[in-house]
Amino acid sequence: MTLPSLPGGRQPFGVMLAELLGQMPDPSGGPMAEHLECELAEAFGAPHAVAVASGTAALHAALSACGIGPGDEVLVPALTVVMTVAPLNALGAIPVFVDSDPASLDLDYDDAARKVTPRTRAIMPVHLWGRMGDPTALTAFASEHGLAVVEDAAQAAGTRRDTLRAGTVGSAGCFSLKDGKILWSGEGGFLLTARPDIAEHARAFRSHWQTPPPGEAPLSRLATNSRLAAPLAAIARVNLDRLAALVERRRAQTRHLLHALEQAPGLTACAPTAREEWNAFAPLLRLSLPRPRAFAEHLAQLGVPNSTGSFRLIPCDARSLFPHSGKPCRGAAEVLEHMLAVILTEHDTETTLDRYAAVITREAAAWTH
Ligand SMILES: *Cc1c(COP(=O)(O)O)cnc(C)c1O
Repeated sequence: MTLPSLPGGRQPFGVMLAELLGQMPDPSGGPMAEHLECELAEAFGAPHAVAVASGTAALHAALSACGIGPGDEVLVPALTVVMTVAPLNALGAIPVFVDSDPASLDLDYDDAARKVTPRTRAIMPVHLWGRMGDPTALTAFASEHGLAVVEDAAQAAGTRRDTLRAGTVGSAGCFSLKDGKILWSGEGGFLLTARPDIAEHARAFRSHWQTPPPGEAPLSRLATNSRLAAPLAAIARVNLDRLAALVERRRAQTRHLLHALEQAPGLTACAPTAREEWNAFAPLLRLSLPRPRAFAEHLAQLGVPNSTGSFRLIPCDARSLFPHSGKPCRGAAEVLEHMLAVILTEHDTETTLDRYAAVITREAAAWTH
């Protein structure tokens, strides 16, 4: 199998950057981030896009725009990274960890329902590894309980389910442009929303309330600076032009690696449902070997980067950062104990993927005792 090659950008990036540098320093920030926002809205089919400095900042602005503040409870899957939770802390809100269904990786809505209280204000689905939960179940749950939905779609650019794009289901969908995501600009992020009030709040919030929503005075609130720098917006625009190709390449890489591992002992590919067009962010394999987490760590040491082995990903509710109350989220723990999620970049060639497959197969065969 041959991986498709990637096209270049709209114009040589050097030309674009030289033009931009000629205009800097521009205290207004220049129009680059605004151009990016128009193109993002168009590419994702969302009425509004707001560019910010990171995925974390996108979540922070979106939660603030949804009115989340001190003492509010927000349902968050335990099956996520700390970056989802940090903005809640910054707003004085309380994360309430919800379990996941280990088969589908989707939120466990029975557990979520048990954790709703009169103080619950929002739910944050996280499309970890690009896998998107059931949007119908999410929307039904949120409207039954009167909750805002802020999607953490940082890993989910390009995923769709039932024709809905990840990041366009909730009140706001938040993306990261950090290196390592499929759509990248080095650092950066953005949010998508259909609600003009959320877009206006996020625009004010990312720049110290200097450009307030209609009817409010500039600088009438304290906010933050999380603007996206123009050179990073330029990189994002060049990459956005090749978004479809970037997603196709990731899918081809994932197919290639999973195909090469079909006969490997103790590993089973973890496939999405037929209704999901997965962006294939990370090849996912369930491990049925003894001490699976130790195996993932062993692979990381041998140069096969993966979520649990390289980044020690554990369920958020098990982190010492958070107070322990109630029962641990067993579904999330089970997923992270047994999942090998291989970390890819667009530069990984067939040779790299074949090397990963050879190492994984050899080590899995030797790991049985
Ligand atoms: C990368 C990531 C974030 C944070 O994005 P930054 O741009 O690094 O702030 C949040 N959530 C998830 C699931 C991520 O993968």
